[in-house]
Amino acid sequence: MHILWLVMGILGALWIFWDTRKQGYPWESSVRWAVGTFFVPAAVIPFYLFQSNVRSKYNNQPKRGKPQDVTSDMQVRCVHCGEFYQGNPERCPHCKTVLKDE
Ligand SMILES: [Zn+2]
Repeated sequence: MHILWLVMGILGALWIFWDTRKQGYPWESSVRWAVGTFFVPAAVIPFYLFQSNVRSKYNNQPKRGKPQDVTSDMQVRCVHCGEFYQGNPERCPHCKTVLKDE
């Protein structure tokens, strides 16, 4: 029976990790969510679902009708250092290379 809980914890942690990365959470944040899920899935998963629901509602509103702004919530890989960053910053947060070409 314990092995089942362990498997559930691992699967839940992997899912949370993948989902937080997909939503553009920073690495440290994804790791914290995944670790929390692994140890207390019953507490963390409902809380995560609740806050990600709030978050997506908040994120979806200003995006309507402005398809060019969709990139601001996406994970983009820096062409210079290969690290992922969120949004559409002027400079890569990892290697500080200027990303905007206009
Ligand atoms: Zn970079």
